[in-house]
Amino acid sequence: MHEMSIALSVIDAVVARALGEGCSRVTGIELVVGRLSGVAVDSLTFCFSAAARGTPAEEAELVIDEREGQGRCEACSAVFPVSTLYAKCPTCGQFRVQIESGEELLVKSITIE
Ligand SMILES: [Zn+2]
Repeated sequence: MHEMSIALSVIDAVVARALGEGCSRVTGIELVVGRLSGVAVDSLTFCFSAAARGTPAEEAELVIDEREGQGRCEACSAVFPVSTLYAKCPTCGQFRVQIESGEELLVKSITIE
């Protein structure tokens, strides 16, 4: 499952960071997930609790910051919200849309003890 491998790699990175700082517990993880990243937030949340079990991040509170997608039309430079990678410009109707944001998937912050 896509979300499970993401959850496992985030947990790995977060735990390595906590241990590297001499901390034994992760109490919070904040993620940024773009709506165009292809990640199902519900599924990711579920996978996180499974992936964190038995690790120093077991009791970490997971906060997911979902970001809207944004595109820019290459034909007329209009900037508008997009919900798919194949968006159409609402101003001129062209499909030459550059995705500017919404594909991100990153760890924004962690809280460790
Ligand atoms: Zn346009």
